[in-house]
Amino acid sequence: MTRGKLQHPLFQRVALIGIGLIGSSLCHAMRRGALAGTIVGYARTAETRAKALQLGLIDQAYTTAAEAARDADLVILCAPVGAMGALALDIGPALKPGAIVTDVGSVKGAIVRDCAGHIPAGVHFIPGHPIAGTEQSGPEAGFATLFDGRWCILTPNDATDPAALERLKGFWEACGSKVDIMTAEHHDMVLAITSHVPHVLAFNIVNTAAHLAEVTDSEVIKFSAGGFRDSTRLAASDPTMWRDVFLNNKEAVLEMLARFSENLSLMQRAIRFGDGDAIFKTITEAREIRRGVIQAGQDTAAPDFGRRAPPDGDEKPVKQAPAK
Ligand code: NAP
Repeated sequence: MTRGKLQHPLFQRVALIGIGLIGSSLCHAMRRGALAGTIVGYARTAETRAKALQLGLIDQAYTTAAEAARDADLVILCAPVGAMGALALDIGPALKPGAIVTDVGSVKGAIVRDCAGHIPAGVHFIPGHPIAGTEQSGPEAGFATLFDGRWCILTPNDATDPAALERLKGFWEACGSKVDIMTAEHHDMVLAITSHVPHVLAFNIVNTAAHLAEVTDSEVIKFSAGGFRDSTRLAASDPTMWRDVFLNNKEAVLEMLARFSENLSLMQRAIRFGDGDAIFKTITEAREIRRGVIQAGQDTAAPDFGRRAPPDGDEKPVKQAPAK
């Protein structure tokens, strides 16, 4: 089948190693675009394998990553960052010459460190990271439109085969993404400030509120629309995933946290000494960034992120795919 310039399916056999939110969303996107002849998968637990088959996400489930990866033209590692090295070690000997191996991990330098050495010569290893996600996990959490209009970053190196890179780029575009290319190091610095530090802050704001003796839990929840609620969405994210992200992007996260602390101290000082001009300037600069995010189509400009508040005040969120 031919659609546009691309020959469909783009890959005869695609193997997903890990079938959670991102893996299952990729399955939906591949089914939507008829991008794969066959989709096979490995998941750690029998429960996830059974669910993935039942939902029609994959055509065949395997109990080892190596079996799933055998004969695949495209292998996508979709497990937590800390598990990727062991998975790459497992699949290495089973990989077909000419196959493309990629991943979706939220950190890239550590993936190269842990995986590249296990990928045999003749197999193309090109790390990747879709900047799309939600706070949900597991095979039932995925949906076909997760990647639509979102960026996917690929981090090839000087030795990467340009034709393989072009194929992988075409795959992500067919899944709905826009693709950007950068080094693994640059990716880790950019994501430290755009994603990793905001999650550090969200986990800690929510816990600070939870530990306040003077304010009850029910007050925190009742008045959460004052800003707290938006932190709770990030704070609901998967602990395994985020532990692995922080431990594997340690330097960049600590560097960005240090810069953040300096700015926070300036703001604290301005509040303490009543420096209204400094406070005003800080907020004005931050507002400009928010305008840029909306102009770039990376969030809705609707008031309150498009949430509807029915007359009884019981909020019902409009389903959308927040970028991560
Ligand atoms: P998820 O929903 O929790 O799914 C994780 C999958 O990996 C499951 O199939 C799980 O198998 C498997 N797995 C967990 N630990 C494993 C281990 N030690 N060895 C082998 N397999 C293991 O996670 P996700 O949100 O899809 O995230 C997957 C990757 O995408 C992560 O590297 C994350 O950094 C990245 N990412 C996430 C987001 C996001 O917003 N969530 C966005 C972009 C990128 P079982 O179900 O059988 O336990």
